[in-house]
Amino acid sequence: MSIWTAKGTLAEAYWNTGRANIPVYDMHGHMGAHGQIYFKRSDTGAMIAHLKKAGITKLAFSHHHSLWTPDFSNREVFEITRRHPDILRMYVGVNPNHPDRVIEDVKSFDRWTPAAIGFKFLSAYHQKKITDKGYEPALKFADERKLPILLHTWGGDRFVPIDLMIETAQKYPNAIFFMGHSFRADWDGVARLHRACPDNVYFELTSIPGTSGMVEKLVELVGSERLLYGTDLPWFDEFQGIGGIVSARISENDMHNILYRNIDNLLGKDW
Ligand SMILES: [Zn+2]
Repeated sequence: MSIWTAKGTLAEAYWNTGRANIPVYDMHGHMGAHGQIYFKRSDTGAMIAHLKKAGITKLAFSHHHSLWTPDFSNREVFEITRRHPDILRMYVGVNPNHPDRVIEDVKSFDRWTPAAIGFKFLSAYHQKKITDKGYEPALKFADERKLPILLHTWGGDRFVPIDLMIETAQKYPNAIFFMGHSFRADWDGVARLHRACPDNVYFELTSIPGTSGMVEKLVELVGSERLLYGTDLPWFDEFQGIGGIVSARISENDMHNILYRNIDNLLGKDW
């Protein structure tokens, strides 16, 4: 019998039924078409159908268009999100190339809760460093309200380099930073950032589950209490993501932490 089908484990349940039978929060989603990639499930209805099929309890997402198309506003994303309060939560997309829009969106934030839970920064795409002035209103607001900010990060990231991330997380100690993609494979950087900012920096796993040994490596480096599940839906698939977590060589306690417990502790069970 392989370790993945040992009786009574999450892996056994998942491999046999395609359901983990525990809460699962996907903390890194998107929505909407993308000009250069065909996504089978990028509209709201198809995404929600997939989330339900895969047993996802909630998805926190930022709409592609709110990040890339200045005339598609976060208010429109709020209108979508509030129609699905049982399963969708939004990150307010922040594009520092439109600083007036950022200021307006921060002012609107309170009207968008509880649908809105925080902000999304996409620094590498917007070609602005995390220390750019355009981010400041969102950073200050997140710090005041203890809100999460999901960032896109990658190994060797020029726009969110480890040193500037440490500086930012220390400057805004009450904001909660989710490192999307966990600086993929920059293990030294991950360890250094975690040592410098052990309390308000979390590492998010989009694109990592299923790559042999990487979930295990991150658990070893920062502990499962600092890891979050995510998929970039519709970029990656929920079944692959959850399957990669429950099949990793980590403890079941680690899996519970990653899939939902850390978020329950951060945002409360009714977020
Ligand atoms: Zn993303």
